[in-house]
Formats: sequence, structure tokens, C-alpha cells
Amino acid sequence: MPPARSPRTCGARIPVTANLRAHSLAARPDVPGMPRGSVVCELTEHGPEQHAGLIRPLARPEGGAVWATWTTPAEVVCLALYECGKHGEDQKRPCALFGAHPGPCTYNRDDALVEDPSRAARIAAALDVLAGADQQEGPAVQAAAHDAALLTWDELRARQIWAALPPCDRAAMYQLLARADSVRATHTSGASELAGDVAQMTRLWAPSSPRRLPHGDTAAHLLDALDRLPPQWQTLVLGGQREHRHLDRMPLDEAVEWAARHASEGLAPPPAAPDWNAEWDRKEDEKRGATTRERLAKLPNSWRIDAVRRIALGTDALGAVANAALSINVIRGYGIYRAWNAPPPKRPSPPAVGNGTKIPDRLGRPRPGPA
Ligand SMILES: [Zn+2]
Ligand SMILES: [Zn+2]
Repeated sequence: MPPARSPRTCGARIPVTANLRAHSLAARPDVPGMPRGSVVCELTEHGPEQHAGLIRPLARPEGGAVWATWTTPAEVVCLALYECGKHGEDQKRPCALFGAHPGPCTYNRDDALVEDPSRAARIAAALDVLAGADQQEGPAVQAAAHDAALLTWDELRARQIWAALPPCDRAAMYQLLARADSVRATHTSGASELAGDVAQMTRLWAPSSPRRLPHGDTAAHLLDALDRLPPQWQTLVLGGQREHRHLDRMPLDEAVEWAARHASEGLAPPPAAPDWNAEWDRKEDEKRGATTRERLAKLPNSWRIDAVRRIALGTDALGAVANAALSINVIRGYGIYRAWNAPPPKRPSPPAVGNGTKIPDRLGRPRPGPA
């Protein structure tokens, strides 16, 4: 007999409008916590009952969060609730839901989302809106950016591509989520570029796809070679990968190879050619290269590989690493905490006490101790 399939995560998703954001703040106005930009139902797959997704983590030592519950996106109710508090057998995976939630806890289920045949059609419709963003109103463009990026991420999880996706490609997806947050109808080039990059991500579920984005392996090797260079060579190579050079920009792979050849002979970078343009370029290369190198070093390794992939394809190096760092901060708004935003390891919480509560008031009182 085949093993029983673990239940999946529901994954129904709604964008957070200004109105819903205000409701999430009003559910516990006295406790700070940033509302998310999108809400996904985190219940284990379920029947026609209400969906429930975390909309605003509450910044207080006792934990808790504001949850959005809905049957149709037009009627969403926000409630402040305690955490479920139950753990899997190994105590390491706390249930991600609220107390007295319907259905099973999250530690025994598949993180993959339920397949939804309408999702791919919604992504395609959103990409059409983004491609013609100059003909659209601002809110329609923002809603399309949300659907294009967030639902694509969801679809990768529903099709079980996400779990096996190389970490550098996940970093690329996270950056699309961050860009969706800033797309505005007034900057139509941003909307159409996002549409192009999301469309590339959607090709990962084409039957012939190798299920990874192009150039990831090359970028990983290039980063290795770059890391092996002495610091002054790294600075010069990265500094040269910028827009507005007077002299031609050497492609990244050639620049790394050139530097590696000289460095292996123990040579320091030769002085710039004695002409005004070359000397100016050298000064700028060293200045921007030092900043780029420092910022690149702070990124998680998968994000560094993705940044090198972008630089090798012609993106300004400092721009690529600055965008990656910015994205790591923006994706907190979708509940994704990476690198310097990752939470410190949690102490195991006490065993669950009785049932959780759906009464917002209770959150204001001390939590009862273990029985
Ligand atoms: Zn649901
Ligand atoms: Zn639970």
C-alpha cells in the first residue's frame, strides 16, 4: 500500500488593502507590529470553513498575532489570538497556528500548498495587466503586481518545485516579491520588467523545464573564483562592473579570469593607463568596488550567487547587491525573515494550556502558567 499522503497547506491568498491594514491595526491598537502585504491561509487543507492567515505579528514577549479570517475576500475579520502552543514530537517544530484552530497542527503536514487550477489563470491575467500598465489605474497595477509575484511563488510550492529549487533561485523569487511591493502605475517600465521576470519564473513549471533558472551554476563557479582572489583584486573586479565607465566594461567572467591570472603570479593590480579617462575609471572602480565587496560579503551565500548572476548578465554591481539587501528587508512584509532579520533561536515554549482563545481581550492579560 502506498504511504498515506500528508495533508497540505490550504494556501488561499488575499492582498492586504489599506482598509484591511487598518482593521489589522484596530484589532490590537495598543500593541505594535507591522501588517503584512499579503495574507495566505495557513490552515491545513480544509473544507468550506473560513480561511485564516496571519496578518500582523504582535511585537510583545508573550507573542500572539492578529489573524485575518475570511470566506470571501470581501468580508475579512481580524482577531488578535494567542499561538497554538503545541509542538511536534521532537519539540522542535511548534505549530504555526493560533490557539483552538480548526484542523490539525502544522507540524505534521506538508508545506506544499493545495493545487488550485485557477491560480495559473490569475497569474496570466496579472501579467497581462502589468504588460499594459500604462493603460491602467494605479490600484489595478498594484493588485496585478501582487498577484503575479505572490501567486507565482504559491504555484511553485503547489507544484512541489519550490522545495527542490536551488537556493539561489529562491533568492531570485524573493526579490520578485520585494519588487512587487514597489511597482507603481507611474513607473510602467518597472511593471513591464517585473512581468518579464515573473514570466521567466512561471516557465519553471513548463513540462520541458530543467526546474531551475538559467546561469545559476556558472554564477556559483564565478563567485568561487571571485572569493579566491586577493581583496585588492576583488575590489577592482567588482568596481569595474558598473554603469557609466568611460572605458568599456569587461564582462565579469573575463575580469575574474584576468585578475586570477595576475594574482596567481603574485602580482598586484597594474597602475591605470596614463590617460584621464583610465585614471578616473580606476578611482571610481576602487571606490565603488570597496563598497560593493563589503555589501556582497554580508549577503547569505545563495543571495551572493544570485547577485553575481545578475552582475554577469550586465546589472550594475553595486545596484545588484544594494537591491538584494533592500529585498531582504522588504520581504519581512511577507513573513519571510532572512539573514540579519532571521529571528534568534527560540527557547522551547511551555506545554499548551487548555484551549486557545478567539477573544481579543484575553491577549491583554497575563498568559496562564502551565497546569
Ligand atoms: Zn484556507
Ligand atoms: Zn496547532
